[in-house]
Amino acid sequence: MSTQGFYVRPTTCATEAGIRDKILANPGFGSYFTDHMAHVRWTKNGGWEPGEIVPYGPIMLDPAASVLHYAQEIFEGIKAYRHADGSVWTFRPEKNAERFRRSARRLALPELDDDTFLGSVKALVGQDKAWVPTPKDDTEECSLYIRPFMIASEKFLGVKPAKLVDYYVIASPAGSYFKGDLDAVSIWLSQNYNRAAPGGTGAAKCGGNYASSLVAQQEAEANGCAQVAFLDAVENKWIEELGGMNLFFVYKDGRIVTPELTGTILEGVTRDSILQLAREEGLTPEERRISIDEWRDGVKSGEISEVFACGTAAVITPIAELVTPEERIAGGRQTDIASTLRRKLLDIQYGRAEDRHGWLTQL
Ligand code: PMP
Repeated sequence: MSTQGFYVRPTTCATEAGIRDKILANPGFGSYFTDHMAHVRWTKNGGWEPGEIVPYGPIMLDPAASVLHYAQEIFEGIKAYRHADGSVWTFRPEKNAERFRRSARRLALPELDDDTFLGSVKALVGQDKAWVPTPKDDTEECSLYIRPFMIASEKFLGVKPAKLVDYYVIASPAGSYFKGDLDAVSIWLSQNYNRAAPGGTGAAKCGGNYASSLVAQQEAEANGCAQVAFLDAVENKWIEELGGMNLFFVYKDGRIVTPELTGTILEGVTRDSILQLAREEGLTPEERRISIDEWRDGVKSGEISEVFACGTAAVITPIAELVTPEERIAGGRQTDIASTLRRKLLDIQYGRAEDRHGWLTQL
């Protein structure tokens, strides 16, 4: 059996329907996985081999596999949404495919062509469609979170690009990322650690960026915050992004500002979509640097009415406050624009509003 060019080797011990339904009723985030995974192997001499859908399970890696030592690795995050008629769709996967190729170039990994990227997602979701949760109503936000990733599997010690690479896709049913969907969260300002520096890997979605953010995330949690905000590494003054989300600032005169893409932040698909939706809502988007002082002064004077974070996992999350050892800077008093944009985005993703941008792809 073959689908999307992927040979399918079905599992002989799929999760029982009753157990799966129990999981889908309360999936949490990132804890449960579907019955299969996609796999494509690359070798320097042979290029990409034919892909396959295989039972989900542990990966055999040589202890000297270079990913384990030198972190030559990249990943992506996409969601599949079940519409009211039962059909399953994904959102702007071509943007993720493109970002995956950019990340691959930065990490000296082989580029995966967009057709194979999308084909792997379609083949896996096609096989495990029963794992895509069905929202109970228009307010429930649940989906299948899809995680493509690529690792250097070649066995050697020595810093050089691997000649053997494996690409996989796994999928995990998901509820909301934060508890309480539109509850505003507190974020911690990382002062001791930067996430990315000019010329570094900030714009790539590679594991190392997240590994190095963990200690700052620990600090955040120790200070009662859900996420950590990073400043630029040169002047420690310009707001970059959160550990896993981009940031937006809404001004009362209708401007909506997000940090520009300087090569040190991740180019979020949600960020790009919000820029388009905001323009259509009559707001004036600006991509530019914004300093911590502008944030503090803007909120104090009432110029900034809202601050929110955005990303595939958490969609749009209002920021209640930015916490530092010295002060607490409010995130703005309102959440009107954040909730309007959030609703617009979710309505498109779940098929409740017309997809005028051609953002959806059926799986
Ligand atoms: N910044 C970082 C560091 C992230 O990990 C993510 C999640 N991929 C984002 C921003 C948001 O990107 P997207 O909207 O594509 O999920």
